[in-house]
Amino acid sequence: MDVNTLAAALPEGTLVTDPDILAGYRQDRALDPDAGTPLALVRPTTTEQVATVLRWADEHRVPVVPRGAGTGLSGGATAQNGALLLSTERMRQITVDPVTRTAVAQPGLLNAEVKRAVAEHGLWYPPDPSSFEICSIGGNAATNAGGLCCVKYGVTTDYVLGMEVVLADGTVVRLGGPRLKDSAGLSLTKLFVGSEGTLGVITELTLRLLPAQPPQSTVVATFATLTEAIDAILAITGQLRPSMLEFMDAVAINAVEDELRMGLDRTAAAMLVARSDAPGEYAAREAEVMVAACEKAGAAEVFNTDDPEEGEAFSAARRFAIPAVERKGPLLLEDVGVPLPRLGDLVTGIAEIARRRDVLVSVIAHAGDGNTHPLIVHDPADPEQSERAHRAFGEIMELAIALGGTITGEHGVGRLKKPWLPDQVGPEVMALTRRIKDALDSHGILNPGAVL
Ligand SMILES: Cc1cc2nc3c(=O)[nH]c(=O)nc-3n(C[C@H](O)[C@H](O)[C@H](O)COP(=O)(O)OP(=O)(O)OC[C@H]3O[C@@H](n4cnc5c(N)ncnc54)[C@H](O)[C@@H]3O)c2cc1C
Repeated sequence: MDVNTLAAALPEGTLVTDPDILAGYRQDRALDPDAGTPLALVRPTTTEQVATVLRWADEHRVPVVPRGAGTGLSGGATAQNGALLLSTERMRQITVDPVTRTAVAQPGLLNAEVKRAVAEHGLWYPPDPSSFEICSIGGNAATNAGGLCCVKYGVTTDYVLGMEVVLADGTVVRLGGPRLKDSAGLSLTKLFVGSEGTLGVITELTLRLLPAQPPQSTVVATFATLTEAIDAILAITGQLRPSMLEFMDAVAINAVEDELRMGLDRTAAAMLVARSDAPGEYAAREAEVMVAACEKAGAAEVFNTDDPEEGEAFSAARRFAIPAVERKGPLLLEDVGVPLPRLGDLVTGIAEIARRRDVLVSVIAHAGDGNTHPLIVHDPADPEQSERAHRAFGEIMELAIALGGTITGEHGVGRLKKPWLPDQVGPEVMALTRRIKDALDSHGILNPGAVL
């Protein structure tokens, strides 16, 4: 396929075919070894340029893989043979309106950059994936990203009031806007949140902001058994809504301690990091309730602090868990979630799968909302071990489905989890999804092979 006509229709340097540059864009963090060889990379700066790319692609039936910062963990941005990679990395404008408490952001800004820009106005954009310093706000919207504070504040979709989207044929639509209430028409904005690049390219987001988060009290508790830690989680969420309730198992605690040397209890079976940002003295009161819940559940040690730096150090330790465990070996990274009362069954069931398949699985979790990340350490160069790891990967999703849960709480289906989606949602929902896809992208050019 000759891309010269497209290159000529875009500002110089927007379209790149240099194989060395393309190589850096073939994979996301799922590191799919079967990533394809793309036709070209386009890095537009405006909606109009994105529309030009999609019109050309639709006309020539060339697949397009949208891409934010490439930190996705489910292969949603994996390059396909002969596809255009459409990176939003140069779309980086943002304006903040303190009156409506909204920000209008282009998709290529990093989540952390959005947080910083709105903080200058005393405002806060809550969703906080652990990857917030390296992932884009467009990628967050396209995957409906979650994070650590979501147990209290909800996920990305709860903060997307509107967007501009370029459809597969190049049509530009504006959905929603800076209005807290809006019942006009179908909830199309929500349809595009979490659509993983399969329905359109998000070129602008209108984000809802909150006043700056109050200072947090932090509770850190360690447990000799997983059951005690789960009991503490259920006791805490039964009494209040923490602003964070995170879980790490023994493997994760030790991996983080190996790297950060912060004096974590290496003998513990589990550690919880819980926080409260209730106003004024209520944060300390909620912390006391959480301390009591941990003690009653049988915690070995409980530590409680109002010091923001100490609290942040423990949050950062939890955020560092994935890279720390990754240093033990390449990961197959799970994202299964269950209704909270089934969390214990999920965690013990995962341990059973790990034993049966003889693979190392470390479990970390956004425990307060039942979303776990079993991290399966494996050596892709060892086919027999890799086979066992992949079997465990599938069995963990099957377990989550059997417990009334989901195969993905926040990372999305991408290409990695696609085979399991029908088992969770059933044939009628798959057929409905296909009808929506066909209606919006009749030539199937947008992110083919992802999700469905
Ligand atoms: C160490 C680590 C920790 C992580 N922790 C979390 C966490 O706590 N919570 C969480 O939710 N995720 C987490 N992630 C996963 C990842 O960071 C998120 O899924 C993030 O939202 C992806 O953003 P991105 O810009 O990197 O998107 P990409 O990986 O580039 O793309 C992700 C998907 O979105 C599509 N896409 C991207 N931009 C657009 C656009 N503008 N329009 C349409 N489609 C688009 C792509 O086609 C792809 O399907 C983590 C990742 C890492 C590496």
